[in-house]
Amino acid sequence: MGQFIYLDNAATTKTAPEVVEAMLPYYTEKFGNPSSVYGFASANKEAITAQRDIIADALGAKSNEIYFTAGGSEADNWALKATAEAYAEKGKHIITTKIEHHAILHTGEYLESKGFDVTYLDVDEDGIVRLEDLKEAIRPDTILISVMYANNEIGSIQPIKEIGRIAHEHNILFHTDAVQAFGQVPINVDECHIDMLSASGHKLNGPKGIGFLYIRTGVKIRSFVHGGAQERKRRAGTENVPGIVGLGAAVSRAVRTMEERSAKESALRDYMIERVLEEIPHCRLNGHRTKRLPNNVNFSFRFIEGESLLIMLDMKGICASSGSACTSGSLDPSHVLLAIGLPHEIAHGSLRLTLSDETTKEDIDYVIGNLKEIVEHLRKMSPLYEDFIKKNS
Ligand SMILES: *Cc1c(COP(=O)(O)O)cnc(C)c1O
Repeated sequence: MGQFIYLDNAATTKTAPEVVEAMLPYYTEKFGNPSSVYGFASANKEAITAQRDIIADALGAKSNEIYFTAGGSEADNWALKATAEAYAEKGKHIITTKIEHHAILHTGEYLESKGFDVTYLDVDEDGIVRLEDLKEAIRPDTILISVMYANNEIGSIQPIKEIGRIAHEHNILFHTDAVQAFGQVPINVDECHIDMLSASGHKLNGPKGIGFLYIRTGVKIRSFVHGGAQERKRRAGTENVPGIVGLGAAVSRAVRTMEERSAKESALRDYMIERVLEEIPHCRLNGHRTKRLPNNVNFSFRFIEGESLLIMLDMKGICASSGSACTSGSLDPSHVLLAIGLPHEIAHGSLRLTLSDETTKEDIDYVIGNLKEIVEHLRKMSPLYEDFIKKNS
């Protein structure tokens, strides 16, 4: 990677060169509006259909069940708000989890303010939903279950097939935020009884600002953006043709490389987990040991502030992410780490590293070497650590 080691692929990924190459003509000679009548522009309609086919194939879905959006957040908002509205007569209860992305959690809060009742399921200490809890939460007025496929912070993969089956048996719609999982693990919407699925281009080496919502045929879902007749009148606006072409190219690439990529990434992930747990004391792995995304590692180091760790890693050219939401101006630890039962002080010392197919063993060795030094250095300055050592010596 040259100047720095980028281990924040859950935040965003580098757009693959073949994706950029596929997009470029749609900014220049193929710039036309797909709704126009003349040939050079209306040809873009076929280009869009071709991308829909690629995405539908990747999910075992039908082409006309794929609706392009401006990313994962929009797809999540759409799935929740529009089904809530369309099914309000049947009931006003929605079930989701405490570890969802804010695009789901804040939409849930919004719906509560509009008179809906939202249950936020707890998860176990590995960040996985307990099926008994889900069954118990179901009510006669439950209209929607939304559970993320894989968590963006701790990488835990949910028992999506079982959740889908439960939803299906109770005749409740099932939505999954698959923004982290799509392109990393194989997904089939029929096998998992998924009625709606959100995904995003920039999490799978595609462009930012483009994503899609899969909506199963027969789901009554309202138009999200009113205007023109694009996306079968459900999401108006001139299509983001370069973005859609980029998304299609990224999905093709992800499908083609998935097996090899995930084998390589999970081997490096496991190597890192083993070494860090063995070589750094007072450290724990967050998330399930095996039911986790191939590229996700998340540790908590006791007696340490995640923010200081990030700054010192940055000085060594390492890009990572912590467990606190300091970007939003608050120093509250991550809702995900609290949901798996970590006390505040341990959640604060968390570090997320998310690999890409460009990550090498040398990168990982460099990161571990620096991590050991930085953790030791920060602990030397920690009064809590000093107390702990005194008490235990
Ligand atoms: C990144 C992410 C989103 C939001 O996607 P955008 O395309 O950035 O809007 C939603 N859910 C999960 C799990 C994510 O990781």
